[in-house]
Amino acid sequence: MKTELEYLNIYQKKHGLKRSRQRNRILEIFLSTDRHVSAEDLLEMVKKKYPDIGYSTVYRSLNLFHKAGIARLVEIGDGVARYENALKQKQHHHLICENCGRILEFTDPKVDEMIEKNARKKKFKVTRRRIDVFGLCDRCRAQK
Ligand SMILES: [Zn+2]
Ligand SMILES: [Zn+2]
Repeated sequence: MKTELEYLNIYQKKHGLKRSRQRNRILEIFLSTDRHVSAEDLLEMVKKKYPDIGYSTVYRSLNLFHKAGIARLVEIGDGVARYENALKQKQHHHLICENCGRILEFTDPKVDEMIEKNARKKKFKVTRRRIDVFGLCDRCRAQK
């Protein structure tokens, strides 16, 4: 299996982009978390280790990781683009809290089978599957 850095290098080569040490550092930080991070979240994490890296570099790098297939876009309906590691994590589904934005993940082979079965019936080839379920998390429900 290829590593994330190999994916990045292949993508950069294909698109005539030079390798960049800063971008590799941002990738290292991105891969160190299991969270779903926005460019702002990632910048905060990057700054702790590499204070000289700025927002636009982080923003552009994250976009590039997305295009290279390393980062998967997660939208929770608040207009903020968040990303998670697309390669390391198994395909999973999301329970998204509409109040605080918390994202809980779950996997369930039965759900995946159900999707495959329905897709087959319609002669549809599934390449990715993800279900986003919206609601209120236990913390937010306890507050009400
Ligand atoms: Zn919540
Ligand atoms: Zn996720």
